[in-house]
Amino acid sequence: MFVGVHPLAGFDKLLHYRVPESLRAHMQVGSLVRVPVVNRLHLGIVGEIGPPRDFPLERLKNVAQLVHPFPALTGDLLGLARWMAAYYACGIDTIIEAMLPAAVRNGAGLKQEKLLALARPLGIDELETLNRRAPQQAKLYAFLAQQFKPQKKSLVLARLGITAATAAALVKRGVIREEIRRIERVAYADDWSTGELVATQPPALNPEQRAATDALAASLHAARFGVTLLHGVTGSGKTEVYLHAVHEALAAGGGVIFLVPEVALTPQTVARLRGRLEAIAPGHRAVVWHSHLSEGERLDGWLALATGETRVVVGARSAVFAPVQNLRLIVVDEEHEPAYKQDETPRYHGRDVAVMRAKLADALCLLGSATPSLESFANAEAGKYALLQLTQRIDDRRLPDIDIVDMRIEVMSSRGLTTLSRRLVNAMQARFERREQTILFINRRGYSSSMLCTECGHVEECEHCSIAMTYHRADERLRCHLCGAERPAPARCPKCGSPKIRWRGLGTQRVEEAVRRVLPRARIERMDTDTMSRKNRFREVLAQFRAGKIDILVGTQMIGKGLDFPNVTLVGLIDADISMHIPDFRANERTFQLLVQVAGRAGRGDRAGEVVVQTFTPQAESIQFSRHADFAGFAASELKMRRDFRYPPYRHLIHHLFRGPNPEKLQFFAEQWARLVERELGNRVELRGPSPSPIEKIKDEYRYQLWYFTAAVTKVVADLARLRAGFPWPEDIVQVMDVDPVSL
Ligand code: ADP
Ligand code: ZN
Ligand code: ZN
Repeated sequence: MFVGVHPLAGFDKLLHYRVPESLRAHMQVGSLVRVPVVNRLHLGIVGEIGPPRDFPLERLKNVAQLVHPFPALTGDLLGLARWMAAYYACGIDTIIEAMLPAAVRNGAGLKQEKLLALARPLGIDELETLNRRAPQQAKLYAFLAQQFKPQKKSLVLARLGITAATAAALVKRGVIREEIRRIERVAYADDWSTGELVATQPPALNPEQRAATDALAASLHAARFGVTLLHGVTGSGKTEVYLHAVHEALAAGGGVIFLVPEVALTPQTVARLRGRLEAIAPGHRAVVWHSHLSEGERLDGWLALATGETRVVVGARSAVFAPVQNLRLIVVDEEHEPAYKQDETPRYHGRDVAVMRAKLADALCLLGSATPSLESFANAEAGKYALLQLTQRIDDRRLPDIDIVDMRIEVMSSRGLTTLSRRLVNAMQARFERREQTILFINRRGYSSSMLCTECGHVEECEHCSIAMTYHRADERLRCHLCGAERPAPARCPKCGSPKIRWRGLGTQRVEEAVRRVLPRARIERMDTDTMSRKNRFREVLAQFRAGKIDILVGTQMIGKGLDFPNVTLVGLIDADISMHIPDFRANERTFQLLVQVAGRAGRGDRAGEVVVQTFTPQAESIQFSRHADFAGFAASELKMRRDFRYPPYRHLIHHLFRGPNPEKLQFFAEQWARLVERELGNRVELRGPSPSPIEKIKDEYRYQLWYFTAAVTKVVADLARLRAGFPWPEDIVQVMDVDPVSL
């Protein structure tokens, strides 16, 4: 027997080995093995069974070890790894590493401990003899005779000061027995949600929910690949529909992956899944999967799924790689969230990978959102995805009123830059007096370095690319980081001539201070990545807020995903002018998503909610459409712009970053490379750049970038990978390719 193995040894190859007799029984595609590479043993995944095509058999080395008797990567995962390696232009070894927890890659198994327990009680005579002849054994016997449960062996021996040989003697005589217990470190959903485990019975569905769940049940029973986009306004009961689909898949004997953008921020979703599982399938526990797990917890969660002990996992994007058996359903909640994209190698998009995994596993992929990504929505419009809609909020709760505050007028009447409009201050004061709660959102994503005129709301854009120009402090110039166009940064607004130009957005800290000034007695808490570095801080603050110990919560849009706070009756968005923060063709989409999601946080209880949105560009379409949560209207208008500029979803984008210590050399090689690509692939791909990155220099390394636009992404990525391998890159230039980036 021979196998081809992908060794995890820092290169991308399939090497062949001979399988010794003793390892043959459980050897299969996807098995985790140890194999010799050069003179060291490395872990590897069996990629195929069979002899090499062009290598003499007698020179093959032996597989050294089979780590688990079950495959570490089931068929669909290995297929997924191959697809990802090709699509994202990276080595299959890096993908396999991302799929397997470190502890699995280290070949660790279950953690076990030895226990001692009484096997049979001794009679009076026997006991007396034991006391006389072997007082140490008698001591151990006496101790164990008083315990109700088996005791940890190492602790008992240490405590009584006796040797292992003493215990062994008693075991041999059948008086006590030794047990081996597996130590459970797996994190289940119950550890993550606060409070009691309540088995929650499903509520009676409304007609729209019923229609959606019926359609999903039909798809699940077909047991064929399919993608369904569930577009439901905030509070329309999407989660309820997911839970029904989960139930359906489990009842059919299938496995489920439930993806959320960030586990720590979605404790309620996790808790609901857990409560429902308890009601519909007692004993079915969902493994939780996220980046804060210890290696031991991750390993045991992985093992619980790989061995089929449990079939449900809920987690952040990497849970898409969980070894769920007989996968039937993948749910991607808040599918539009940029958090699904990983911004380090391998740079995959969790949602897109979920769709591909579902395809390879003949499963159903259910994407849900109140504000679907335009990529998914376009696929639904084109008939590639099924579309289900929930248009009504539960109990017909009204969507809150949205007040758009024109900050240009505020600025004019206050002579200077204002953080809080009078409208927002009054509304906060009223809430504070009524003991109701407020959430203030600050819009801060990526770098904030475009130019905004606070008098007329003008943002300088590139005429070729329709994205905001980026301000470069070093040489006081504005640049388009897509095409490289540039001009000097103006001292006055090019549109209205005003000198009141703002270069950066507001930080959470500044907003917190402004709130303290107007409401000194209010209890205010700030929540952003700076203040939330401690592991459980999110959950603590959210719990305090829920308990009413905080009046006003200030934070970036990270707060409030899927959260339901009945006492929050006011939500303020400090700065809706997102195009100032992200010079990106998705700026409008992000603004719309933010506004609709933020508005959905207000008035979830019985009281009506109010939303105050501050903006310098009240006329912008993304803001106007969001007032009535008009997704269809927004999508139609935005997709037209995307089509005109031939942006995604009409073409794919690939970002190529070059970095190195010498700027001239970097520019030279980036340009040589661009010329080669133009010559070889010019008919299939449009190039923009190379030009300096928006952040030109990080830690003394200069950065250049190049963009490719193409409709034939798979082919182009393969060609680029081939050309890249043959290009004479100097040692000191590092380059990174990102296929389908989500922020520019
Ligand atoms: P979404 O995910 O669309 O924002 P949720 O699923 O969170 O909406 O539902 C909003 C609220 O309505 C939740 O508290 C949920 O328990 C409740 N809910 C959902 N469906 C029903 C129903 N059919 N009957 C009563 N309450 C429901
Ligand atoms: Zn102006
Ligand atoms: Zn441009």
